[in-house]
Amino acid sequence: MRIGVLGAGQLGRMLALAGYPLAKTFVFYDMSGSPSAGLGEVIIDREGQYLDDFLSRVDRVTYEFEHLPVEVAEKLAKEKPVHPCPRALQVCQNREAEKTLFGQLGIPTPEWKIADSAESLKAAAEELGCPVVAKSITEGYDGKGQAVLKDPEEAEGAWESIGHQRLIVEKFVNFKREVSIIAVRAEDGDLAFYPMAENTHHEGILRYSIAPAPGLERHVQEDAERYIRALLNELDYVGVLTLELFETEDGLVANEMAPRVHNSGHWTIEGAMTSQFENHIRAVSGHPLGNVAPRGLSCMINIIGEHGDIERILELPYAHVHLYNKGERPGRKLGHVNILADSYEELVWRVRNCAQFLPGCPEFKSSLTPKG
Ligand code: AMP
Repeated sequence: MRIGVLGAGQLGRMLALAGYPLAKTFVFYDMSGSPSAGLGEVIIDREGQYLDDFLSRVDRVTYEFEHLPVEVAEKLAKEKPVHPCPRALQVCQNREAEKTLFGQLGIPTPEWKIADSAESLKAAAEELGCPVVAKSITEGYDGKGQAVLKDPEEAEGAWESIGHQRLIVEKFVNFKREVSIIAVRAEDGDLAFYPMAENTHHEGILRYSIAPAPGLERHVQEDAERYIRALLNELDYVGVLTLELFETEDGLVANEMAPRVHNSGHWTIEGAMTSQFENHIRAVSGHPLGNVAPRGLSCMINIIGEHGDIERILELPYAHVHLYNKGERPGRKLGHVNILADSYEELVWRVRNCAQFLPGCPEFKSSLTPKG
């Protein structure tokens, strides 16, 4: 079976790595950028003139990024099965639509309002009570197009700095930690849920994911499964879906969803019986889902900006290195290291030992590490 992937970055690369053992072949389609996927034919189509050519070479279509015009996905879906469905893309591209859907499905969110001027941003900040987070409705990711307002008087400056015509203004969530759940839905509606991960960000970029999240309570995992199940079924979704959440004293609060395999699920490559990549390929190909049980405790460390001393990391007997074949640039995701252990204590020791070879890697802290 030939799988067409919209987008040609590292997620596409890892989808292909997982798909070849199942005898899939891959064609990547990208409208811009420098492809790093490799592992298959890459069509770069800046003018949008090779879509038919792409379609003629594939049996099924999926995507590895969500910034694709919905009309393109809809056009493709008229000709070939496209998983996940274009509606999932549409929801993820618009924070207002996303938060509205969460609300309709009973998924808790921060209290929010819409602002379409500096004045209405100020009014929203006053009504919600500061601090608030203002985010552009569209085109924002990894903390871009956002501002935190500590006082309604900051509205004018925040409006200018974000520079978008429509914003969502959210009450600032005082979270214990950031977590995510990754789930997969098959064509026949079968569902599987990975254990939640605890995610640590630095300068707006994911740095560490630990899974299963330390101290994860059964009822918290069950709540997350209920929320993501509601989304998967509502969207008649096929493939892997990620839901990013805040864990608070009063339970989970949803932040956003991604209609694809996700950085906080890279630990599953060695850390789960079936990786998120293989399960996505299984789902979009119409196969049964694979076992999502963890193999132990995992931590994924992102390699950001510089490669660091990869040779030293390769010497560590417990480190699994994944490189994306990309050039160094500040803030760029170049690869990741997966580390497995039998206890959290051992995991922390191994992660710290590995992280010392990665320049710019923030100190490893998690809800595991004693405070002070
Ligand atoms: P986002 O682009 O929505 O994923 O936001 C990027 C980061 O900003 C998140 O990972 C959080 O660390 C932080 N953030 C976003 N929204 C909120 C909120 N309502 N309250 C507190 N922190 C937030």
